Amino acid sequence: MSVPLRQSLKVSAHVAKQLLRGNRKFALVLQLEPLYQCNLECAGCGKIQHPEDVLRRRLTVQQCVDAVEECGAPIVSIAGGEPLIHKEIHQIVEALVERGKFVYLCTNAILMERKLDLFKPSPYFAWSVHIDGLRERHDQSVCRSGVFDKAVAAVREAKRRGFRVTTNTTFFVQDNAKTIRDVLDFLNDELEVDTMQIAPGYAYEKAPDQEHFLGVERTRAIFREAFAGGRRRRWRLNHTPLYLDFLEGRLDFPCTAWGIPCYSVFGWQRPCYLLADGYASSYEELLEETDWDSYGRGRNPKCANCMAHCGYEPTAVLTTATSPRQALRAVTDVAASQFVQIRASRARNGG
Ligand code: SF4
Ligand code: SF4
Repeated sequence: MSVPLRQSLKVSAHVAKQLLRGNRKFALVLQLEPLYQCNLECAGCGKIQHPEDVLRRRLTVQQCVDAVEECGAPIVSIAGGEPLIHKEIHQIVEALVERGKFVYLCTNAILMERKLDLFKPSPYFAWSVHIDGLRERHDQSVCRSGVFDKAVAAVREAKRRGFRVTTNTTFFVQDNAKTIRDVLDFLNDELEVDTMQIAPGYAYEKAPDQEHFLGVERTRAIFREAFAGGRRRRWRLNHTPLYLDFLEGRLDFPCTAWGIPCYSVFGWQRPCYLLADGYASSYEELLEETDWDSYGRGRNPKCANCMAHCGYEPTAVLTTATSPRQALRAVTDVAASQFVQIRASRARNGG
């Protein structure tokens, strides 16, 4: 497991500051969606079904900076749509990095190699490349052949140029413990990405393919099987140990979607980037006027199958931050992961 140490320290300091101020709800990660337009049409996507006039809309650099400053999150995940279609995306990234934010730029990688020159490597900036499986599985997931090879080539080139590269992988009903292991072994050991993020697909109401979302019990079973045999510790997963316990069904906890708010061309999406129950005009309004107790599994039919990180990772982070035992476990995992990486790197270099 591997959340970069610098990022872990910044998030811990942020949480401590908020709790000392008496804030009970605050942002950890901003999900920034500066456009909904995309150059793919994945079957499981719930973002690209907007009418053409909405797909043409863009957030400006200033709107992005204002949203980040308004909610105060130390981490920004820029998604969409496909952010690399946005003509000012490099300026948005630069402005956020300048402000000391950890920025993850999510992309399907079709335009990535062509646009690498627009970005500078930084410990505060990472590409987050969408890879749902090995070649056949990924191309099936994004409904276009050749995309896996393009993404792999872009990752290799970005790493060669010194960028941090992470991946995000969503699993659906076609997946099982073996497909999960195959793709994560490939990303971790062959492609050697810095970290990996994983999620069971959320059943977007608007997604054209409603047949292939994982239910809660199956999600727990396949993650438990996939993680067995020490892989969980060996893989450089960008998650807290508690969120991975949650995916395996070792524990359960409530949704705290206010920790990963979503800002888009419509404003602050209520309650999270997966569910659209209206929009607020400010983060404060989102916090104050959302009935948070009516969301989460067991509380809302639209949340019934959700185990997504945007609802449950903030709960895991806050539980870790307020429990000395869990905090120690997270630190130990980071140290163990760094040790495994140094050993693997020495072995590769013949040292
Ligand atoms: S790449 Fe992402 S935004 Fe584009 S269609 Fe696929 S899931 Fe949707
Ligand atoms: S459980 Fe939480 S994160 Fe999932 S859809 Fe519901 S509100 Fe969003």
